[in-house]
Amino acid sequence: MSNIADLAKPEVRTQPVYEPGKPIEDVARELGLDPDGIIKLASNENALGPSPLALAAAQRALTEVELYPDGGCFALHAKLAEKWGLAPGQFVPGNGSNEIIELIGHVFLRPGDEVVMGAPAFIVYKLITLLFGATPVEVPLVNHRHDLGALAAAVTSRTRLIFVPSPNNPTGTANTEAELLAFARALPEHVIVVFDEAYAEFLEEAPDLRPLLAEGRPVIGLRTFSKIYGLAGLRLGYGYAGAELAGLLHRVRQPFNVNAVAQAAAVAALDDVEFVERCRATNAAGLRQLEGGLQKLGVEFVPSVANFILLRVGDGARAFAELQRQGVILRPMRGYGLPEWVRVTVGTAEQNARFLDLLSPLVS
Ligand SMILES: *Cc1c(COP(=O)(O)O)cnc(C)c1O
Repeated sequence: MSNIADLAKPEVRTQPVYEPGKPIEDVARELGLDPDGIIKLASNENALGPSPLALAAAQRALTEVELYPDGGCFALHAKLAEKWGLAPGQFVPGNGSNEIIELIGHVFLRPGDEVVMGAPAFIVYKLITLLFGATPVEVPLVNHRHDLGALAAAVTSRTRLIFVPSPNNPTGTANTEAELLAFARALPEHVIVVFDEAYAEFLEEAPDLRPLLAEGRPVIGLRTFSKIYGLAGLRLGYGYAGAELAGLLHRVRQPFNVNAVAQAAAVAALDDVEFVERCRATNAAGLRQLEGGLQKLGVEFVPSVANFILLRVGDGARAFAELQRQGVILRPMRGYGLPEWVRVTVGTAEQNARFLDLLSPLVS
């Protein structure tokens, strides 16, 4: 018998393993802790839970799950079209916006293509690039922020895609609307820009990239219901683009890639303006609390405009293990090439205080 792994495509054999934030249940099981006493500040989930309107809609949708979902996501796309002032055909749904990153790979990436991305940036860009046999071209951040000039300078005739997350994960830094628009307008036509806006709703004012669509440029915006809408467990995100580009992404998705409960919840969540406002305000207060606490402890951190903070603790693996032992799950950053750092999600005021209390003896 041959070794089955030898039969796999080389890109699959060498695909790095994604390390997600550790689930509460895993930590409880491994360390013999009560799950109710554990808090997860590892995956930038919403400390205030899901949107209540979304939760009610999801519960109603559950009573009809013997039926396949609407594969065309009619209600969701109609709602998005109204919200954005775009046509329903300009949206593409994903099982999380992560899936849309993969769809983009399916449509555009061949072996030998280059994909330009910042470093450190969201690791999924690199994983998907490698999975399709393309080559990641990593451009170092400057002062923890994307250097758009350097990204543009890394473009060659082989560049197919550029990923620009703003705010970026794991740094929590953003580029301005003027910077993003000028960057996209100066690129050659063979390069597609993916603007990952997973945390855009946490900004006071999110950049409006729609002028780029009106100009017919090859750009895709990615949004998610996992962060400010508090629906990470339902897995729903969407892309918006010109109708032609959106149509290509539709061709490569599975007909029912987004489930019915998630669709119903998302439609309701888009109407829950009050919840989103409350989350944004709570997050802003949490950022101030955490940054103030870190300053007092003399801990270096990257000022954030998202719902998490990157901080330098010396030995990130040790801080992660120590806090986890005491029921607070952080995200170690070794996988991002930042072994001295950890990332903490903004929690409730009590959770933030507990995190700072537990961190204090480790950094003094
Ligand atoms: C969390 C996150 C996403 C969202 O992923 P989903 O698949 O929608 O849950 C996308 N991009 C970045 C940079 C993120 O941090």
